[in-house]
Amino acid sequence: MAKAKASYVCTDCGSEYSRWLGQCTDCKAWNTISEFRQAKLPARGGNFAGFAWCSASK
Ligand SMILES: [Zn+2]
Repeated sequence: MAKAKASYVCTDCGSEYSRWLGQCTDCKAWNTISEFRQAKLPARGGNFAGFAWCSASK
């Protein structure tokens, strides 16, 4: 069974972490790290981008 891979991104500076942190070690901001599920974006964004590219090139 494949687990959905989640990463944590600081909404302030965009730093990525493999686990949740209370404080971003890059910009030192507190509570700016939010969970970001990687599984959702490639499926939706990928299909959308591919479709748009195909119809635009014709
Ligand atoms: Zn940060």
